[in-house]
Amino acid sequence: MISIKLESQAPKNDVLRTPIEYLKGVGPARAELLKSELGIRVFKDLLEHFPFRYIDRTKYHQIAELHPDQPEVQIIGRLVAVQEDGPPRKKRLTAKLQDASGVLTLVWFRGVRWIKDSLPLNEEVVVFGRPIKYGAQLQIAHPEIERMTQHKQGVRSHLSPVYPSTEKLTKKGLNGKAIAKLTANLLTTLHGVGLERIPERIRSSYALIGAAEAYRCIHFPTSDRELKEALRRLKFEEFLLLQLEMLSLKQHRQKKFRSHPFPTVGDHFNTFYKAHLPFELTGAQKRVIKEIRSDLARPAQMNRLLQGDVGSGKTMVALLVMLIAADNGFQSCLMAPTEILATQHFNGLKELLDGMNINIALLTGSTPKKDRAVLQEALENGSLHILVGTHAILEDKVSFHQLGLAIIDEQHRFGVAQRAKLWKKNTLPPHVLVMTATPIPRTLAMSFYGDLDVSVIDELPPGRQPIITSHRFESARLGVFSFLRGEISKGSQVYIVYPLIEESQKLDYKNLMEGYEVIIREFPRPDYQVSVVHGQMPAAEKQLEMERFAKGETHIMVATTVIEVGVNVPNATVMVIESAERFGLSQLHQLRGRVGRGGEQSYCILMTGPKSSADAKVRMNTMVESQDGFVLSEVDLKLRGPGDLMGTQQSGIVDLKVGNLSTDGTIIKAARMLAAQILENDPQLLAPEWSLMRERIVERTRDKMNWSRIA
Ligand code: ADP
Ligand code: MG
Repeated sequence: MISIKLESQAPKNDVLRTPIEYLKGVGPARAELLKSELGIRVFKDLLEHFPFRYIDRTKYHQIAELHPDQPEVQIIGRLVAVQEDGPPRKKRLTAKLQDASGVLTLVWFRGVRWIKDSLPLNEEVVVFGRPIKYGAQLQIAHPEIERMTQHKQGVRSHLSPVYPSTEKLTKKGLNGKAIAKLTANLLTTLHGVGLERIPERIRSSYALIGAAEAYRCIHFPTSDRELKEALRRLKFEEFLLLQLEMLSLKQHRQKKFRSHPFPTVGDHFNTFYKAHLPFELTGAQKRVIKEIRSDLARPAQMNRLLQGDVGSGKTMVALLVMLIAADNGFQSCLMAPTEILATQHFNGLKELLDGMNINIALLTGSTPKKDRAVLQEALENGSLHILVGTHAILEDKVSFHQLGLAIIDEQHRFGVAQRAKLWKKNTLPPHVLVMTATPIPRTLAMSFYGDLDVSVIDELPPGRQPIITSHRFESARLGVFSFLRGEISKGSQVYIVYPLIEESQKLDYKNLMEGYEVIIREFPRPDYQVSVVHGQMPAAEKQLEMERFAKGETHIMVATTVIEVGVNVPNATVMVIESAERFGLSQLHQLRGRVGRGGEQSYCILMTGPKSSADAKVRMNTMVESQDGFVLSEVDLKLRGPGDLMGTQQSGIVDLKVGNLSTDGTIIKAARMLAAQILENDPQLLAPEWSLMRERIVERTRDKMNWSRIA
């Protein structure tokens, strides 16, 4: 990583670190406000406090031509008839604005006293705000008002910037306009200061405008074109910075974090591969195993993310890699987010390993004490090769003889802190493989996991039939039930899934139980057996129900999303998702992945109420049309934005000012390639042309060191 010793060198652009109070027009009181309200401390912060939109301030409107669908308008007129009314605590202030064409009401609900005293009456003013309909009338609430004399001196451009501001700031006279003025002062102050972080040769080959120009144009564009060029340049810089950071972290990790090399592929692996593997690996599985093997052969810690759509066969990859660890005298652990999944992995792996000389055990929260003691002994004397389990594995009392590899299945349920615990399980940290069935769009993966290695299984095992997906409204429920009866009579099993929203477990439980009542009425015993699994059941009972369903003893599994990830019952061919509009695309896709695991034609039925949002309609249609997890994830990214997609945990990691992870794919890819080239020639970014960029990275990475240790 770009080393942090740099601090001893004198920073090159000190001016940008000047406290904001020294800017013309600020002073200590305003500085305090800017700090507390907007986090603006130094010149640089204000320079990068970008407008969030622009308004055409060269146009003025007549009162008579206003209508409620308009965005902000500017009107020239005079204020007459100011009036205060309403009860003392709910005072309201109104004023009439008059121009040649008519009269408009302006209204204030807050700061009534203060505003009343400051209104310039019977004088030519410019009023700025958004007309809204109130009864039959149009009004503007809390408009900006400026004396004409002042207005004429104001900063004006075709596209006038609108800055994020707060009520408190506005009250203290630091409204959007005042901020624009301060920014204009700042640009004047910074005239001639070196702001450029991208060398000329790079700018010319990517046709990027200079930094000073870009800052002027993003704050005060004189044309759409200028704004566009400014944005492109600033986005490019932002993503280049991010990629330089990510890639240098990656270099750093490879150098710094040592781990035990696994040079050998020996008997365990070879015996299994030749005599026990129940099918031919797909090309993608083979490629991914090769990628992992080459990581493991090195003495550096592996930190790899394995992405593969539901059913792409990640478990087999995990097993083969654990066998390599065993061949090198190391133990492995495989962690799953729920007890059901851990148990299922354990049973599956145990069966596959039948007749092999490999010891495997299961550890979960409900493992009895006496079994634990036996297990712990086997772990410590090294006779146990593979430990499968839940978070229970992370407990301090679980210690290994020689843990060499940790595999985490369905990563999005594991917190960063929990993963950190893994590092302490051996003197050198184990290699880490994180498996996820949630495909992440490439641009997102580059940004969020840019410092990890990523392998992708982009091929399903042969012979899978596409799952027929349909969207049905509540009104078609009886038809859906009769379809289910038909499938069950052919020997199939059915999942019926209800949404689970953590905040309202009670409500979810109620929905589920009501649904369950309907199902047992429609599918009565003894002809039909129905299982139910939900979050409020004891683990052992859940387990029992899952097992009954897996063994084919029950026909229908009614469940909340506990079955979302990983569960494998090949005989289940129909997935009914209730209130499907309440699920995100990736969740729907995960759920659908529970069927289509055997040779039979499978179905997914999305049930929704009569009305759904436009967004929900897009989700349903996308599900019906596509089965490619990557396609779905791209749509999801557009609908929900990156923060939601990655979960709140990670959303702070990429804190972009101008870049947009959903729409800037082209720029992100270009920046990634450029960053790789730059670091290849100059891994420390020591060349003078990069000194400002380097300084910036150092500044930012300092805060991230803790985060970055943990993959
Ligand atoms: P996931 O990637 O969702 O974890 P699994 O590992 O559960 O997928 O695999 C799904 C199913 O596909 C399992 O029944 C597994 O045995 C089977 N499978 C995995 N790889 C292959 C392959 N190369 N050929 C045929 N079947 C495979
Ligand atoms: Mg899996």
